[in-house]
Order: sequence, then C-alpha cells, then structure tokens
Amino acid sequence: MPDPARSTSASHLFPLKPDLERETPQAGLRSPTLGDDLSHRQLLEGEFWRHLPAYADVDSATFLDPSWQLQQSARSVGDLATVVGRSSDRFLSNVQAGIDRASMSLRVTPYILSLIDWENPESDPIRRQFIPLASEKLADHPISVLDALEERSCSPVDRLTHRYPDRVLFVSTDVCPTYCRYCTRSYSVGTSTISVSKHKIRAHGQRWAQPMEYIRSNPAVEDVVVSGGDTYMLKPSELRAIGMGLLDIPHVRRMRFATKGLSVLPMKLASGDGWLDALTEVAERGRALGKEVSVHTHIAHPSEITWISAQASRLLWDRGITVRNQCVLLRGVNDSAVTLRTLIRRLSYINIHPYYIFQHDFVPGVEDLRTPLHTTVRLEKLVRGATAGYNMPTFVVDLLGGGGKRDAHSFEYYDRTTGISVYVSPIIDPDALYYNFDPIDTLPPEGRERWAIRDEIPSMIQEAGRAARSAGESRGSRETTW
Ligand code: SF4
Repeated sequence: MPDPARSTSASHLFPLKPDLERETPQAGLRSPTLGDDLSHRQLLEGEFWRHLPAYADVDSATFLDPSWQLQQSARSVGDLATVVGRSSDRFLSNVQAGIDRASMSLRVTPYILSLIDWENPESDPIRRQFIPLASEKLADHPISVLDALEERSCSPVDRLTHRYPDRVLFVSTDVCPTYCRYCTRSYSVGTSTISVSKHKIRAHGQRWAQPMEYIRSNPAVEDVVVSGGDTYMLKPSELRAIGMGLLDIPHVRRMRFATKGLSVLPMKLASGDGWLDALTEVAERGRALGKEVSVHTHIAHPSEITWISAQASRLLWDRGITVRNQCVLLRGVNDSAVTLRTLIRRLSYINIHPYYIFQHDFVPGVEDLRTPLHTTVRLEKLVRGATAGYNMPTFVVDLLGGGGKRDAHSFEYYDRTTGISVYVSPIIDPDALYYNFDPIDTLPPEGRERWAIRDEIPSMIQEAGRAARSAGESRGSRETTW
C-alpha cells in the first residue's frame, strides 16, 4: 500500500477507472454489474491533496481558500512540473506541444490537479478534460467551425444570444477558474492562444446595459441563462447587480446562474467571500416575487465530486437554491454506462439534479473528445433506470447551425456509415433541416473513404437531407410542416 501522503498517484483513491469500466462496442446492451453498487456514496474524504509533492505540506485552511486556489492554478507546463515533482519528461513535452495547438489556454486549479492520477495521466478522465496532449489530437471534422452553434449570429446585442422565443443567454464574463479543453465558447472564453485570437468580452457594469435593455424591451423573454465564462468569477456586487436587475424586469420569471465552480472550485461556497450571500439575496428576492433563481453546474465525472463538493452543494440546498447539472459526453472521460450511472447517482446523492447530458459540440482541436451519436443513444438505454425517472438526465444534441437542443433520439434520419444524422427544429425554423456529424475516426472504412473525397461531401449531405424528408413524409407527422 503506497503512502497516500507521498505518492504522486491518486489511483488508490478512485474506485472508478476508465480502463476497468469501459464497455466495448461488442458489449451491446448487456448491463455491466459495476456501478450497481453503492460506490456513488464513496466520496474522497480528508486532505486528499497531500499525495501530490507540491501540496504535501498544504493544510486544510490553505487548500480551502479559493484565492489560494486561483493564485496557485497551473498555467504552464512548468507549473505542472512543479505540482507533480518532476522535471521535463515525455509526458510534459507532450503537454507543451498540446498547449501550442490548443484553442483554450491552460488554467487548472490545485483542486482539479489533486484529482488526477499522475502515474497514469494519459488515460486519466480528469486530465483529458483540462490538459491537452499533442499525441491525442485528431484532424478536425471537415464540417468543424468555431462557434458551431452560431451564437454570435443569434446575438442582437453584444453579450446576449436570443435563439428561442422565451429565453436568452446573457454572457456576463469571459473568464473561468479552470478552462475546459472542449469549451463551446472557445471563440471568446479565456485568453488568446497561439491558434485562436479571442473575441473579448469583459465583465463591467456599463457593458451589461445593452443586454439588460434588450431583455427589458422584449416581453416574450421569461427565462435568462446568466453564463459566460463562469459566473463564479463575478464579484458579489456584480452578481447582485445582474440578478436584481433581471428581477426588476416584470416579464422575467426565471434565471439560472451557470458555473462550473462546483466541479473545479467547490470550496468557494463555504469560504464566506460573499458570492453565495449575493446569490442567496437574489434567490430570496426572487422567491418573494414568485420567480425562480437556480444554479446550473457542469460536473462531467464522478471523481470531481469530493466531500468539499458535497459541503458546497449542501450550503446551496440549505438556502433553498436548486442546482442542476448539465455535462458533455466526452470520449475517454464519461462515455461508459458505469461512469454515467455513478455520476447520476452521486449527483443525486448530493442534491444536484442530473439535468442534461450533451452530445459534444463541434469545437476545433478536440475531435478526440467527441463521441458518435450511436454511443449517446446506447448509453441512454444503458443508464435509464439507474435512478428515479425525474432524476434522469435528458441526452441532447445542440444542433449545428443554431437549431437548438433536441433529444438525441429524435433524429429524422441517421446513417451509421457516413455518421450523418438529421434533425428538425420547428420552433426555430419549420422548414430547416439540421445536421449532426459523427467523428470521422469512429466511422467504418467505407464512411471514412467517402469523407476523404471532398467533392463527395455536398452529395452525402444532400442524400441525408432527402432521406430525412422522405422519412418525415412517410410518417405523415402533422407536427413537421417541412
Ligand atoms: S467552465 Fe464553461 S465557459 Fe468556462 S471553459 Fe469550461 S465549458 Fe467553457
């Protein structure tokens, strides 16, 4: 048994490792037995961070200080080398080459760093989310573009996206405590990298005037997602100003503050820095007005949830604030039924509603993290029933080209050879077809060969569109007017 205080490996701490739990495609729909136990209740306890050389002498008061976490976040390969107590090696060179090609800059809190198995970092599901490796990089899909959801084209004023009639996305900041490799808003979030020059949005009171005025002058808007970046990075006064300002608008009935903080910096909520108090003030005033104020968080793997996250979630629960989780299905991170079942149960166990699991968006540079649609459909079948129906997440595809979110199963047509699936989204556009594309490397050889011939691409897409319309017509669906 290694000495937990000195080993750089966290493997002894984790009941779930991806190489043990992953089903193969041959596994079909057979239910694995792992994950049916009570492992979701086994949260990391104590000073688990001390197994890393850099944190061996860090006491609880220091580790639980969110300012220390932000100051000590790793922003370079040199920082990572210090944390794990090694000088340059092949892994660190691989990371440096990955950073040089990434669309997101490196920023990882000590909390997250302490959850990585540094003896096997290549296959670690936490590492895969935040630290790039050049060796993992796959060629982008030919269809891939930055801002694939076309948020900027649905943006009537800066810092606001209006796609659905009754709800808007309010972009409050462009910074986060930790940057995810796969960020959908990699076009604007974080600092510019060698490969991406960011469209910058700064948190500043005057700069929110335009989105506030837009919402005030659009009475159909009832629901506001206050996002970013991460609303954790707003000062308490800023969070209060946005929340109270929205509550003052009579037709706004619901607002959700989006933060990945419960995953990457959970100690902030117990720190007394004022953020939770500001949120509570907004939620209590909302309740008095008959309006809902909730938190949407983003936890992708059960290992991100420790006793610190449970404590943070409990504080929100005690203040009557609903927390929902929406995470992305990520290859090599959470694309197994065992991991998802444990995640869903662990979230529920700490009073977080497992709300959405997203099919990965098209984000340049992270094709290795995308999964094909058939994986999403299979996993949904395998995990449904893991907990009560009201606690089950919906598996969704956020459609390329601004079609919005659709149930992953609701495609009109899906060709497993070309990996093209087709959806309709009548609320957005009753006549349009929206397309989704599986990663090329997951296709059978025949499909890969077709995509390799660039002249074939338009006809493949047209074929899929015709098949989708024909399938819709043969069903005679009254709802589909296209
Ligand atoms: S926390 Fe959200 S906004 Fe920030 S980098 Fe991650 S996915 Fe992007």
